[in-house]
Amino acid sequence: MHDIWNPWHGCRKCSEGCQNCYMYFLDRMRNQDGSNIYRTKNGFRYPLQKNRQGKYKVQSGEMIRVCMTSDFFLEEADEWRPEAWDIIRQRPDVKFFLLTKRPERVAGCLPTDWGDGWDNVFFNVTCENQRRADERIPLLFQLPFKHKGIMTAPLIGAIDIEQYLQSGIIEQVLCGGENYDGSRPCHYDWVKKLSEQCCKYDVTFDFIETGSVFIKDGKTYRLPDKQLQAQQAFRSGLSHLGKPMQFHLVDDWGYEIPEENLYKPHYHPVTCRECGSRMTCNGCSDCGKCDSKASP
Ligand code: SF4
Repeated sequence: MHDIWNPWHGCRKCSEGCQNCYMYFLDRMRNQDGSNIYRTKNGFRYPLQKNRQGKYKVQSGEMIRVCMTSDFFLEEADEWRPEAWDIIRQRPDVKFFLLTKRPERVAGCLPTDWGDGWDNVFFNVTCENQRRADERIPLLFQLPFKHKGIMTAPLIGAIDIEQYLQSGIIEQVLCGGENYDGSRPCHYDWVKKLSEQCCKYDVTFDFIETGSVFIKDGKTYRLPDKQLQAQQAFRSGLSHLGKPMQFHLVDDWGYEIPEENLYKPHYHPVTCRECGSRMTCNGCSDCGKCDSKASP
């Protein structure tokens, strides 16, 4: 399982959701500065790396989240992006999850052979509150992508997305509270409303984590542990598995890859059993890190 590709690192804060950016926080913990933007060295060509047997490390059918410590459409990355597009072009058998807070830049950043979109790219915008939902989702609708979704994280206000779900364009909604330094609270009622709207239109809704301050029935819960947050999100029962997304993944010759030849996620029997991300995650990598924490 390989789920993150960071071709560059560092970012500029651009909206309310960036206030307590986890990348800035984690960089601070390492005495680094998150506003220092650079192209990664070993990681840049990660989707093309092969193992000793000459096979790609990232397997056909896997979903890779791109630029999780930056923004794929950041202005400072304009000179590096064409090469990143070229890597995505070379792996039509892998799903690339793109997420941005800068959809207004996207049209000018697409490759010349983009056409009406590549089937292996799943494009998402972040909507942390109603203002950003109303600003970014209409832009998402106008852009030429085959697969479109919304990330309502960090959820810092109530959001009504029913008018957008009605269109049938949005295929998935992810949701989570805020973490780390200075977390703003996430309210159960906000998540429930999003869940109900997604259920109504049978769109997958994945409540991945509560955030470190969660308010339910007037009571404030503090959950510094992310594993506990994911467990509580799972136990809330608010996630909904909607219509499946259909990615037409092809091999180097352009032939569709049969379902049985695509990567199938598997899960840790204990730590993955009650995880908010389970519905949309790439599965367990068997790294062994959580075995020490797991208790049956
Ligand atoms: S866009 Fe994302 S990575 Fe960039 S500052 Fe905002 S929250 Fe951080």
